[in-house]
Amino acid sequence: MTGQDPTAEHETPEAQPADPARSGRNLLVVSGPSGVGKTTVCREVARRLGVVVSVSATTRPIRSGEVDGRDYHFISEAEFRRRIADGRFVEWADVFGRLYGTPVEELARASDAGEVLLLEIDVQGGIQVKKAFPDALAVLLVAPDVQALRRRLSGRGTEGPEEAQRRFAKAEKEIEMARLAGCYDAEVVNDRVEDAVRQVMELVEPRRNQA
Ligand code: 5GP
Repeated sequence: MTGQDPTAEHETPEAQPADPARSGRNLLVVSGPSGVGKTTVCREVARRLGVVVSVSATTRPIRSGEVDGRDYHFISEAEFRRRIADGRFVEWADVFGRLYGTPVEELARASDAGEVLLLEIDVQGGIQVKKAFPDALAVLLVAPDVQALRRRLSGRGTEGPEEAQRRFAKAEKEIEMARLAGCYDAEVVNDRVEDAVRQVMELVEPRRNQA
């Protein structure tokens, strides 16, 4: 997560201008540091509510078990940058040196289905979405405590100990950035997955029939 880090050398992405004709009431943003259990909570919320889950584009390498087009659209950096220039992302960010972005087509996919669109994106992306769509619902998922987050990151095994340490070091900074920006509507503590899922569902449900 470096794109909005003032000490970073990366450029800062600009939010796409809001389309006044398009409401963000059907957008659910879920952010939180890696290791906090975002994917598990999002998958469960999506399964129970039948919401559409946005498929991001990324330049990071595909991991074992992932499927191109289902988990992410895996594309080259050159292609990603072409798409930025063509205005094809709702938001994008540099996360751990790789680019991630929400394709504009995802918005249409959800509104065509009359459903809520769930965006599992980092805080930089969440801030951009809230700037473009102030009435989107943005939820920040946090770990119950620092030790729990460290345990989860080192036990995850999707990256080496160095990468896990790097992600841990960024985790608190990401939460701080979210709180400073003041644009997250709610914080949910992921202590027990079931409780976190229920809380997110309670926040989303009033909006579902208006999507
Ligand atoms: P991972 O590589 O572990 O799947 O994801 C790394 C981070 O990138 C996570 O915090 C995830 O939420 C975030 N991310 C995934 N897709 C997007 C996206 O489209 N935009 C932004 N801003 N972040 C994303």
